[in-house]
Amino acid sequence: MVEVLNTVDKAARKASDDNRDTSAQAGGGRPKKLYAARKKVYPKAVTGRFRRLKWILATIFLGIYFITPWIRWDRGPGLPDQAVLVDLAHRRFYFFWIEIWPQEFYYVAGLLILAAIGLFIATSMFGRAWCGYACWQTVWTDLFMLVDRLVEGDRNAQIKLDKAPWTAEKIFKRAVKFGIWALIAFATSFTFILYFGNAPDVAYWFFTGQAPFVAYSTVAIMGAITYIFAGHMREQVCIYMCPWPRIQGAMVDEDTLIVTYNDWRGEPRGSKRDRKKHPEIQYGDCIDCGLCAAVCPTGIDIRDGQQLACITCALCIDACNSVMEKIGKPQGLISYSNVNTYNAHVTGQAVNFTWRSFIRPRTIVYLTLWTLIAAAMFLHLTFRDRLQINVVHDRNPLYVTLSSGEIRNGYTLRLLNMDLEPRTFRVSMEGLEGARMRVVGIKAPEGRSVEIEVPGNKARTVRVFVTADPAKLKERRETFYFRIDALDKDGKVTESARKKAVFEGPKK
Ligand code: SF4
Ligand code: SF4
Repeated sequence: MVEVLNTVDKAARKASDDNRDTSAQAGGGRPKKLYAARKKVYPKAVTGRFRRLKWILATIFLGIYFITPWIRWDRGPGLPDQAVLVDLAHRRFYFFWIEIWPQEFYYVAGLLILAAIGLFIATSMFGRAWCGYACWQTVWTDLFMLVDRLVEGDRNAQIKLDKAPWTAEKIFKRAVKFGIWALIAFATSFTFILYFGNAPDVAYWFFTGQAPFVAYSTVAIMGAITYIFAGHMREQVCIYMCPWPRIQGAMVDEDTLIVTYNDWRGEPRGSKRDRKKHPEIQYGDCIDCGLCAAVCPTGIDIRDGQQLACITCALCIDACNSVMEKIGKPQGLISYSNVNTYNAHVTGQAVNFTWRSFIRPRTIVYLTLWTLIAAAMFLHLTFRDRLQINVVHDRNPLYVTLSSGEIRNGYTLRLLNMDLEPRTFRVSMEGLEGARMRVVGIKAPEGRSVEIEVPGNKARTVRVFVTADPAKLKERRETFYFRIDALDKDGKVTESARKKAVFEGPKK
C-alpha cells in the first residue's frame, strides 16, 4: 500500500482540491464571488470496464452517424435509393422501407415522443446514463479529448504544455490538434448535409463548388458549433447550457442508480502522510489520491456528493477501482448505487442493490406508455392507407346558376397515390342525390363517378364541377362526400378514403 501511495499522482490530488474549490462555489457552500471563471479541465486517461463500454458505444454511434447516408436501398425506378433521406425538395422522409409524407408527420412526432419517454425510462432507472454514454456532446467531446491525448499527451503533459512559453514545438502541437479538431468538425457537419440529398451527388456538388449556398452555410455553422462545443466549451455545455440536468431531477428517485462515493466505507479519508501522522485514527478506504477527480470530464469530485455537473459517465468508478486493486481493497468504493442501498449501508443494514429496484410504479408507467405508443405506431404504420384525398371548395364564386337553372359548384381535388406503383382511383360522390360530377381534362360522361390515373408516389390535382338541381337541395349548404377507391387490374377495390365537402346553393 505504501508503495502505491508513493506513486499517487500529486497533480491529480491537487486537481481534486482545485475541483473541490470550484464545486463548493458552484454547488454547496457560500459563494466567494458571483462569477467564477472557468477552470480548464484536463481529464486524465483511464482504463476500466466503463471506459471500454463508453468507447464501444461511441464507436457504434459515430459509425451509425457517418455511415448511414451512404447506405443504399432500392425503391424502384425514379425513386431515391438512399436508405435514410430527408427529401425536402419533394417533401418526403425515407427510412429504409418506410416513406413518410408531409401529412404523416405525426409519425415523426410519435418517434420524438417515444424517444422522450425512452429517455425518462433510462433516467429513472440509470440516472443520467444518456448524458454519460450517448449524448452527442459527450461522444464528440470524448473524441476531441482523444485527439488532445494523442497530440499533447495525457493530463500532466497538457498542463505543462499550457503553461509552457510559445516554442516551435508548442505551436506545432497546437496547430496539429486544432487542425484535427477542425477536420472532425468538418466531417461531422458535412455528413449532416448528406442526409438531405443523394449522398454521392451532394458530395460531388459540394467539392466541385456546385452545391447550393445553404449547403456551404450549414456546413460552416454546424462545423463551428461542433468545434466550439466539443473542443473549447466541453463540460460547460452540460453544466450551463443544457436544460436536461435541470429536468431529469423529476425522474430520479431513491431507487435510481447513480454514481455514488460510498463514504460509509471511504471516510475518514487519509493519504499516506495522514496515516503516518495519525496512526491512532481508523482511516477508511479512500487514500485521498484524487484520481477520481482527475479523470472526471466535468472536473468535479464525486466525494463531494451528487452534483449537477455529474454526467454519470462512471469514469471515476474505473479510476477508483484501479486504485483499490492496487492497494488490495475490494472494488466499489465509488460505484453505481441508489439512495436506498446507500442509506441501508449507512445505517448498518446489509442491503445490497437488486435488479428489482428497476421495477417500480414510475418505471412501469413509463414502460407501459412507451409500449402502447410504440404498438399503436407500429400497427398504424403497418396498416396505413396509401391513398388520400383533399378537397378545396371554390371560394369565388361559391356557386354559379347555369342557363338551365341548375346550380354548379367547383372543387379542387388532390389525390395522393402513396404507393410506388401507378394506380387507378375511382372518384365518386356519396350523398347529394341526383347531382352529377365532371372532371376537367378527363374524357368521361358527366355522372356520379369517374376513374383517374395517378402516377406512383405522386399527387394529382384535378378540377371537379358538381351540378345539382336546386329543387332537390334540402338545405342551402348541403354536405356530401368525395370518395376515392383504388382499383386493382381486375377492377376490385383495394383501398378507400373519403373527404367531406359542402355544396353551396342559393337561399331557400
Ligand atoms: S463524478 Fe464521476 S460519474 Fe460524475 S462526471 Fe465525474 S467522472 Fe463521471
Ligand atoms: S475515492 Fe478512490 S480514487 Fe478517489 S481519492 Fe479516494 S481512493 Fe482515490
